[in-house]
Amino acid sequence: RPFYTEAPTSRPRKMALSAEAERIAAEFEFNDSNVNRAVLEFVAEMNEGLEKNATYMSQIPTYVTGVPNGTEKGLYLAVDLGGTNFRVCSINLHGDTTFSITQSKVAIPRELMVANTAQELFSFLAKQIELFLKEHHNDHFEASIKRRQTISSPEGYRDENFFRLGFTFSFPVHQVGINKGNLIRWTKGFGIADAVGQDVCGMLQKEIDNLKLPVKVAALVNDTVGTLMARSYTSPGKTSTLLGAIFGTGTNGAYVEKLSKITKDMEGEFDSSTGLMVVNTEWGSFDNGLKVLPNTKYDEILDKDSINPGIQMFEKRVSGMFLGEILRTVLVEMLKNSSISLFRDDTSANNDYHSTTEIKRDAAIYKQWGVDSSILSVAEADNSSGLKTLRQFIEKDLGVLAASLEDAQAVKTIAHAIAVRAARLAGVALAGVVLQTGRLDKPGSEPGPKSAAAIAQDVKSGKLAEAASATANKLADTAGLAVNEDEIVDIGVDGSLVEFYPGFEDYMR
Ligand code: BGC
Ligand code: MG
Repeated sequence: RPFYTEAPTSRPRKMALSAEAERIAAEFEFNDSNVNRAVLEFVAEMNEGLEKNATYMSQIPTYVTGVPNGTEKGLYLAVDLGGTNFRVCSINLHGDTTFSITQSKVAIPRELMVANTAQELFSFLAKQIELFLKEHHNDHFEASIKRRQTISSPEGYRDENFFRLGFTFSFPVHQVGINKGNLIRWTKGFGIADAVGQDVCGMLQKEIDNLKLPVKVAALVNDTVGTLMARSYTSPGKTSTLLGAIFGTGTNGAYVEKLSKITKDMEGEFDSSTGLMVVNTEWGSFDNGLKVLPNTKYDEILDKDSINPGIQMFEKRVSGMFLGEILRTVLVEMLKNSSISLFRDDTSANNDYHSTTEIKRDAAIYKQWGVDSSILSVAEADNSSGLKTLRQFIEKDLGVLAASLEDAQAVKTIAHAIAVRAARLAGVALAGVVLQTGRLDKPGSEPGPKSAAAIAQDVKSGKLAEAASATANKLADTAGLAVNEDEIVDIGVDGSLVEFYPGFEDYMR
């Protein structure tokens, strides 16, 4: 062997980058026992929210006391104010589990999310409804104009030809009736102070009336309730849908609870004959106290710099609005450390490999919210040997001048870890709801919800795991043959994350 030292090649440094990426990825691990502990806490907080106005999970009664079964009929309007888009649609329910839908979608302008007055936002929404009606239902529109010429007050010209509109409003609302509810707080980057405490249906109706549209806001629902309803309508089975969940810009779930378990005050009127009520959990604020949630230094930075520190702590680890920002925070911290060769020029003439970062000063990577969460999906999906797609994305969307293969590999490793942690946390929420509702109890036994203490006991004794795996095995055995419908827990999910992140559902399962 020659006794000279080899000139430094880029190899050891590249190894260091991948090792560093692995080390950071490990900080995002959320192992099985973490999951189990979190599920117990989740069930406890669900129960706390049913008993009183709790600090973390709000467990909001929705006044919806049943779910559809696929026979419902009629033409309805619906609007959906989500975290990113505003949708207007008309839906024709055919009454045989099928429906037809016409819809339009606009991105909500950033400036309206943080407008000075709620009126600015709601008049924009009403305007979109007007455009939609003119384009797709001009007959109704013209008819209503004629009617209005003879009758002056909005109440007067409302008749059966009016569209009844379902308002999907994807923020926490203290609901006091089927079409009345006051905004509790904004989430997902919205912040319009004068809207808090106001009735969001009233605000929308007022702007609709200003435009004299033939529309009556008939129902207010959270998007999770809408998801639960939609799933129930299209998949009527022996056991009805238990939960509607959103993993999108934000995250949340609404489930069917026994009325008898909702012991806190409910001021609105409702028909109690079903013995059930849909509860909007607002699980985005599960464990704001960080008793069981993972908390890396990147989570801390993100929270501190957010417009609602200390709130929506579960959401900040799970949903689409935040995953890109967590990744960005990690990358920025890595860039501060000059011994890590991330996005650095290996070939610079002065041999000072680590001195220059290959990034434009005003690049997206240096801006809060600058990195869209879709990078996580791109990173997960690109399994080519050269990671060409991911490298291009990094260059174009992060503002890195030249991303090497090693850079892209590091990004992929870390992005994957962030997403898997999110999916495992999502699984905690689903498991919590399934346990709370007693759906894993042995068939034939009273399926009433168990106390958190009883579940804790079951988990400790391994009983739940046994029951769950026995059920799973049986389902697997019968798959493709006759599945015992009693044992299926039917859950509706929606949202950009579960829709577009490859494998999110698998990781969640
Ligand atoms: C809101 C929920 C909503 C969820 C999903 C959260 O930020 O608080 O009301 O259901 O996002 O859109
Ligand atoms: Mg949505």
